[in-house]
Amino acid sequence: MEKRTQSPKRRRLVLVPCPYQGHITPMLQLGTFLHNNGGFSITIAHTRFNSPDPSNYPFFQFLYLDDGIPKHEAIPADLIAVLLDLNVNCRASFEDQMRRLIGGGGAGEEVVAGVIYDEVMFFCEEVLSDLKVRSFILRTTCAAASLARMALVRLNDEGYFPLKECMLQDPAPELHPLRFKDLPISLTTGFTKYPTLVKGMYNLETPIKAEAIIWNTMEWLEESTVSQIKTKSTTVPVFFIGPLHRTASARTSVLTEDFNCLQWLDEQADGSVVYVAIGSIASLGEKELGEMAWGLANSQQPFLWVVQPGAVRGSEWIEALPDGFLEAVGGRGCVVKWAPQKEVLAHRAVGGFWSHCGWNSSMESLSEGVPMLCSPCFGDQKVNARYLSHVWRVGLQLENGLERGEIENGIKRLMDEEQGREIRDRAKHFKEKIEAHVKVEEDQCSSRTHLKDLVSLLSSF
Ligand code: UDP
Repeated sequence: MEKRTQSPKRRRLVLVPCPYQGHITPMLQLGTFLHNNGGFSITIAHTRFNSPDPSNYPFFQFLYLDDGIPKHEAIPADLIAVLLDLNVNCRASFEDQMRRLIGGGGAGEEVVAGVIYDEVMFFCEEVLSDLKVRSFILRTTCAAASLARMALVRLNDEGYFPLKECMLQDPAPELHPLRFKDLPISLTTGFTKYPTLVKGMYNLETPIKAEAIIWNTMEWLEESTVSQIKTKSTTVPVFFIGPLHRTASARTSVLTEDFNCLQWLDEQADGSVVYVAIGSIASLGEKELGEMAWGLANSQQPFLWVVQPGAVRGSEWIEALPDGFLEAVGGRGCVVKWAPQKEVLAHRAVGGFWSHCGWNSSMESLSEGVPMLCSPCFGDQKVNARYLSHVWRVGLQLENGLERGEIENGIKRLMDEEQGREIRDRAKHFKEKIEAHVKVEEDQCSSRTHLKDLVSLLSSF
């Protein structure tokens, strides 16, 4: 009898991003890389709210999760509450969609090789374990922020919180160089929902069902933190594959980018412009907006400022800018709703980035050699700002909130004076290091090696 040869089934990966820009971006970049380089078919399991436009990803399949959240705000007033609700509400439709996918794939040309979920979407773990589908966790923060977050539970158990105001500047135990004020939560108001969120996420020390943890950071950048993580995480492989935006070029923006600002940049002198953006989920009070505006105006430096609609509490867009500000700055300032940030940072006219220090923004700035003025708002941004200003020393941190005099002084120091020049030189050095690093294959610590090993692991099932 003739023996029938079976062609191997194509492997499909399901990716579950957390539905906010800073999380969607690295997940889509990872999906693009795995599609282009590992030959995987990709399904994105997303909430309908904040979904990237599927027509921009003709090579991905999209399926939708019912999030059950009645009112969606682009910038949520209580992010942790929304994340906790997502973990409860999305579970049933995720399970349902996965059952259908596994059922369909088993009979056809494809097999579901695994699910990569954002660490914040931890409801996936139990569903996948029940369905016997392999899971992988993507962490979209730097490694130091992950360790700091895990330490919060320990410090809480040791009775540190709520912290006395006078202790904010003190070093956080076992977390050098972080101070209490750099930890990823407001410590003086105490813990409420945060421990539930942190405990839901994998903490490196308890047993885990996932097959691997993937970090969007670089081993060489966070050497000592990575070595601590490797010591703690003995039962599961860890991969450090950042910066993902240098690995896969995907247009990942959920909001419409205003490309006209690149023409405005074309008209500015080399290295003269301060680019100002506070990411996708931070908000400002009217007073803070006013302080930012007058700090920028008084610095006399040209600036490109992203003010996302809804970012100023109680305003549609820029109505809350102080009277006389736009007239005072004239053509020296350009204000947009959303910018093509990576192109902006790569533009020859941009000499500094005044940032909230989200992890994607930080890596994008490091990759382009742009020095930073650091104004972290909450969460991991505070850890990133401390590392940018005190460990990698490519930024200056505004330590006392948003106050026009400090802002003016910070911008002048960054753009003009000797301290700024040293920071700029170091930032350029990081750009060169990242450029060299993303090409290196032989080095065991390089992201390329980690990516190759990750593809091998995903292909081995
Ligand atoms: N971003 C953008 N245009 C803007 C502002 C931000 O494309 O006008 C992008 C930016 O390039 C980054 C992401 O939005 O990739 C923000 O992620 P990040 O982790 O920096 O901050 P988050 O939004 O999570 O606070």
